[in-house]
Amino acid sequence: MSSDVAAALSEALARGYQIEPEALRLLQSLKVLNVLELIGKVLAEKEASGEKSDIIKEEDVKRVIPPGLESPSPEEEGGKVDLVVEELKEEMKVISEPELAKRTKEGVATLQSLFRSRYDKLLKIAKERQEYSALEPIASASRDGGGLVRRLGGLVMSKKMGKNRVELTIDDHSGSTKVFGFDDATRRVASEVFLDQLVLVEFQITRRGLAVAKSINHPDIPERTPNTAKKDVYVVLTSDIHVGSRAFLEGPFRRFLLWVSGKGEGLDGAHSMDMEIVRRLKYIIICGDIVDGIGVYPEQERELEENDIHKQFAKVATLLEGVPKHIRVIVVPGNHDPVRQALPQPRLPVSYAESLYKFENVTLLGNPSEVSLHGVNILIYHGQSIFDVVANTPGQTFSKPASAMKALLRARHLAPIYGARTPIAFESEDQLVIERVPDIFHSGHIHVLDADKYRGTLIVNSGAWQGKTKYQEIMGINPTPGIVPIVNLSTLEIITKDFTKSFIAA
Ligand code: FE
Ligand code: ZN
Repeated sequence: MSSDVAAALSEALARGYQIEPEALRLLQSLKVLNVLELIGKVLAEKEASGEKSDIIKEEDVKRVIPPGLESPSPEEEGGKVDLVVEELKEEMKVISEPELAKRTKEGVATLQSLFRSRYDKLLKIAKERQEYSALEPIASASRDGGGLVRRLGGLVMSKKMGKNRVELTIDDHSGSTKVFGFDDATRRVASEVFLDQLVLVEFQITRRGLAVAKSINHPDIPERTPNTAKKDVYVVLTSDIHVGSRAFLEGPFRRFLLWVSGKGEGLDGAHSMDMEIVRRLKYIIICGDIVDGIGVYPEQERELEENDIHKQFAKVATLLEGVPKHIRVIVVPGNHDPVRQALPQPRLPVSYAESLYKFENVTLLGNPSEVSLHGVNILIYHGQSIFDVVANTPGQTFSKPASAMKALLRARHLAPIYGARTPIAFESEDQLVIERVPDIFHSGHIHVLDADKYRGTLIVNSGAWQGKTKYQEIMGINPTPGIVPIVNLSTLEIITKDFTKSFIAA
């Protein structure tokens, strides 16, 4: 007898009930994780109905079993449910991960080389576009050219938005110049431009020596057809579990774990839509904020259920134990996890996450990282800078984080604004430039599920597993926890599944 069933049995006995052998056999045949919870439901129903009988019968158990979990049909019994996913071989490649070996000193020289690296990488991207293949250095382009149209690329050092004009100061290795924009189109693009990002400007110098923009452009991503998998295979995109927080939604998260194991509610028989997904579910990406951490913000301990970070991770391990071994779990850290806060962040350290490193099916990576799953390239980034994007761009809101992520794709940089809320490491190479165009861009951090498509790239902000916190209340953020986006890698279509509600019709 499994310990689960034994515990359920003693619970029933303790409450003065007996279990018929048929009912016991049924319990033992179930592929459900929490038999104790099930028996709790039986007892609650019996007590509520005021029924005199203190014997638990087979039909009492049947009544509370979620559909799809009744005694397995012979077709499923031989392990057929898992067959598809077992046939699907894992096809995962890590394309990039932050490199953190080189230690650099804080100081002006490091900052200069960081910006130089940013400029060089972004200029290379810009030059791939035909119209910008021959950009001039600022020093020569800003000299009077007798009315010629000049093109240059530079980092935005300052931006002044006036009523009828915009003034940008842009900078490259050779010098800096002021550019003015007077028409609606240039003013609109300029309003979306971040400080410290690369812009591409086409301009003419007037007789009075003013550089007037004809157009302002982002480096942007090209319009294209994304890579897709050859077979139907699914990836769950999730983030912000916040284990340890009082607001962690453990019930819905456990329901999710049951579901991915093919044992959950709503998996009506082998041919239901859900079962078709679960049979081909091969990957789960967890995009940061695995634990709530400790000391992340003042007086956080009041909102913690568990204030020992090692115990928070022990609990994560217990939960991830519920993920079947044929599913590969990819984990990157976020700002609540115990790694350095400055971007890029390294992998979760062994000293805290030892239990996770022991799982054969868990891969820990830094933030940001890029992986390829069945040929589909996924950029995984916790999303710290989305706050800065929303705070600095008119029209951006926390209710549409995918739109802020689109702005990052256009700027080809994960955290363009330097010196805002998002801490950026003092390193001589800028590792936050979006050098390769992703097929899927996955972030979290905002706790609001949102998705968008932009020029062929699927953008997903994957919500959370934490209820509304005081901080979010103050910030005016309305989280959408417990709803999970699942992507079919062969079509890049999203299915969302809400685990906050029981799937059993009342
Ligand atoms: Fe979070
Ligand atoms: Zn976060």
